[in-house]
Amino acid sequence: MSHCAIVGINWGDEGKGRMVDLLTEHYDVVVRYQGGGNAGHTVVNEKGKFALHLLPSGIFREGVVNVLGNGVALDCENLWTEIQDICAKGVAITPENLKISDRASLLLPWHRDLDALEEARLADKKYGSTRQGIAPFYSDKFQKKTVMAGELLYPEHLKAHLADLLEWKNLTLTPVYGAEGYTMEQLLDWAADFGEKIKPFICDTGAFLRQASAQGKRILFEAQLGALRDLDYGIYPYTTSSNPVAAYAPVGSGFPAARIDQVIGVVKAYSSCVGEGPFTCEWFGEEAERLRQAGAEYGAKTGRPRRVGPIDIVATRYGVETQAATSIALTKLDVLSYMEKIPVCTRYELNGEEIDFFPFPAVLPEAKPVVEYLPGWQCDISGVRTWEDLPENARKYVEYVERSIGCPIGYVSVGPERDAIILR
Ligand code: GDP
Repeated sequence: MSHCAIVGINWGDEGKGRMVDLLTEHYDVVVRYQGGGNAGHTVVNEKGKFALHLLPSGIFREGVVNVLGNGVALDCENLWTEIQDICAKGVAITPENLKISDRASLLLPWHRDLDALEEARLADKKYGSTRQGIAPFYSDKFQKKTVMAGELLYPEHLKAHLADLLEWKNLTLTPVYGAEGYTMEQLLDWAADFGEKIKPFICDTGAFLRQASAQGKRILFEAQLGALRDLDYGIYPYTTSSNPVAAYAPVGSGFPAARIDQVIGVVKAYSSCVGEGPFTCEWFGEEAERLRQAGAEYGAKTGRPRRVGPIDIVATRYGVETQAATSIALTKLDVLSYMEKIPVCTRYELNGEEIDFFPFPAVLPEAKPVVEYLPGWQCDISGVRTWEDLPENARKYVEYVERSIGCPIGYVSVGPERDAIILR
């Protein structure tokens, strides 16, 4: 059986949640394979407006099974709050439609503390973390210093393991950061409380996915963030601590043999970025504020104003190549409707030369955007549902982006609602 991944091509916040919510109609299973509660996938459907942090965006569709794979940072506390919030709005979440990998590692209470402590230590050199504990979690995971969700099912084993980790972690919390350490009692209370709540959802999701695939069920892999935030391929060190690339989906989901034939890369019709680090085509002042307001560019998780600017063809082409995207969903085209002319960053100027390839992260702060303009359409397109009905200049813009990034644009989104989409 062949499967599909929906991934971000840029800095994240491209509108992946809205695309997953739309396309789950054709899928039986949706899997999150990396990242954690730092995601903010916005979904607007008949049940309301939701910002999903850890839950896969297929949670609203009846009959769809949602999986949190082994690659995610499993924050039980956040997950439980999210489950309760969504259930309160009339969505059923049960072990039938939510399955958590027994091999997913747990984000422990001190991970969030360490995230905030390290950002505070870095002061004006901070990374702009969402302070959800993601970087400390993944570094501990790779040091083999956290626990897997499946260990919650073996209380005596869990207690002994947590005691070892506690002793080790307090060595850092107090002597290095001057913070208060944890006690065994606190840890056991935490495990008893949140661990107990998520226990019913824990299972061998790898076995589940293999069987689902063998039975001909269609699986959709949902990424968090985008290629430019990938730990290995992004703008290091302003990356996340996991791999949002589609190539990681089989590994992080528990189904390493999965064949992903279709990779839908989500690209915003302009650029936005949360957090620190080089953002070559950034706008400032009034121009930025106007675009930020038109696109409601404020973080779904943090409420922080996002940095904004014109579409960056250089970075987007790199994202498309890194993700091996087979088609593109171009979102938020409606947001550009107010512009008389549409800015496009086509190349970078670096050391007096113009380049069209995405350079090594260390030289990115020196790069300057080369911006060209296409004519705008200056009318409301949020009600348009067919390609033919789009104004000619809007079609020309989409075609220009398509040619420049070298990947067919299969979907054009003109609003946050499920049906505000043009299929090409
Ligand atoms: P994700 O993390 O990639 O899922 O993206 P976010 O949810 O952080 O950001 C996308 C935002 O844009 C959300 O508020 C969506 O509701 C909204 N959105 C998605 N597609 C469109 C679109 O085509 N037009 C408009 N105006 N808003 C959109």
